Amino acid sequence: MLLLITACLLVGLISGYYGWSLAVGLAIYLGWTLKQLLRLHEWLRQHKPDEAPPDGYGLWGEVFDSIYHLQRRDQRVRGRLQAVIDRVQESTAALKDAVIMLDSDGNLEWWNRAAETLLGLKTPQDSGQPVTNLVRHPRFKEYFEQENYLEPLEIPSPINDRLRVQLHITRYGNNEHLMLVRDVTRIHQLEQMRKDFVANVSHELRTPLTVIAGYLETLLDNVEEVNPRWVRALQQMQQQGGRMQTLLNDLLLLAKLEATDYPSDNQPVAVDALLQSIKGDAQALSGQRNQRITLEATPGIRLKGSEAELRSAFSNLVFNAVKYTQDGGQIRIRWWADEQGAHLSVQDSGIGIDAKHLSRLTERFYRVDSSRASNTGGTGLGLAIVKHVLLRHRARLEISSVPGHGSTFTCHFAPIQIASRMAS
Ligand code: ADP
Repeated sequence: MLLLITACLLVGLISGYYGWSLAVGLAIYLGWTLKQLLRLHEWLRQHKPDEAPPDGYGLWGEVFDSIYHLQRRDQRVRGRLQAVIDRVQESTAALKDAVIMLDSDGNLEWWNRAAETLLGLKTPQDSGQPVTNLVRHPRFKEYFEQENYLEPLEIPSPINDRLRVQLHITRYGNNEHLMLVRDVTRIHQLEQMRKDFVANVSHELRTPLTVIAGYLETLLDNVEEVNPRWVRALQQMQQQGGRMQTLLNDLLLLAKLEATDYPSDNQPVAVDALLQSIKGDAQALSGQRNQRITLEATPGIRLKGSEAELRSAFSNLVFNAVKYTQDGGQIRIRWWADEQGAHLSVQDSGIGIDAKHLSRLTERFYRVDSSRASNTGGTGLGLAIVKHVLLRHRARLEISSVPGHGSTFTCHFAPIQIASRMAS
């Protein structure tokens, strides 16, 4: 630029037209600058990777070089990042568990090879497809749409009925989902063996027990012919035999509940009438104990499901309240519905349960205090049955209790489980 100005001044000195020669000089400079700018523009527009920028002179040359260096540095960083991504993808591809990335709408974005063998996803056709179109199990659709992924879901594999898969969904970033799928066929088989074993043993024990109970009954019916020394022993045998029978019945019921995911029936159940009849049974169980049992049920709320299963769950809760409440105590049964669904609560003024036991109460044979159970003749399976029945009816159990003051057991049913709300 200095050279150009000097040349212009010289020409001005010779010709005497300083102004004109400077103007011409600047016009030439402007034209040249414009040309460089156009070259840069052209290069950027049709840029191919690794293509060097056009040669430039002076300041423009420096600008071209700096852009080129920036670009190279960017490429190197990108290369390194790509290498990291490739390594992560390679290692996840080698995993035995399936890893699937879904976007915020639940469409497939990326998955590893195991996803193809466990769920039958196909590369690249399935990319961008909604996952619920490819994994069509009704439980999965419901689980995915409910967006409550605290507990994993176990379903048969969509491509092979003999494979059992467990799905874990985690949300990350912008409501995207990461789905991990494990093959749990072996664990499932072992579990199945355990269930079958318990069911078979219970079933096999029933017949001999019925025979023994029958003979004991006959003996006690003819008590005058029995040696008086044996009467008490026979009575105790009959009582314990009865306990064994209820235990076997509960075990068989649990085995039946575990065998399928859904209730055995899907008819609308009139819960108010059901509770009325359970209340009658509870009063009979309470007998002379002077307990006050009240029922406040909103009429017309019907639940979808199996009446027999719901009866056994609700009566377990109500009978427990009777068993674990002192004479003269209060038992309040309530049934109502709101936006969150339908709710049944059984509140008693009984002995209550210490907070440390609450989380384990629904485990099989879990007892707060074993002496309590032998007094009441409980099997320790009642609340396990309640939990299973509720699970099958899309409900959960909430337990709150204050030792010495009483307990409240509340079943919360999801709104979709309500069949109808008829006018009362
Ligand atoms: P059980 O057949 O022994 O009653 P459950 O599974 O029904 O077995 O209950 C488990 C334990 O929970 C019982 O042993 C009892 O200690 C406690 N429990 C259940 N319901 C109540 C209640 N309403 N009040 C106090 N304790 C309760």
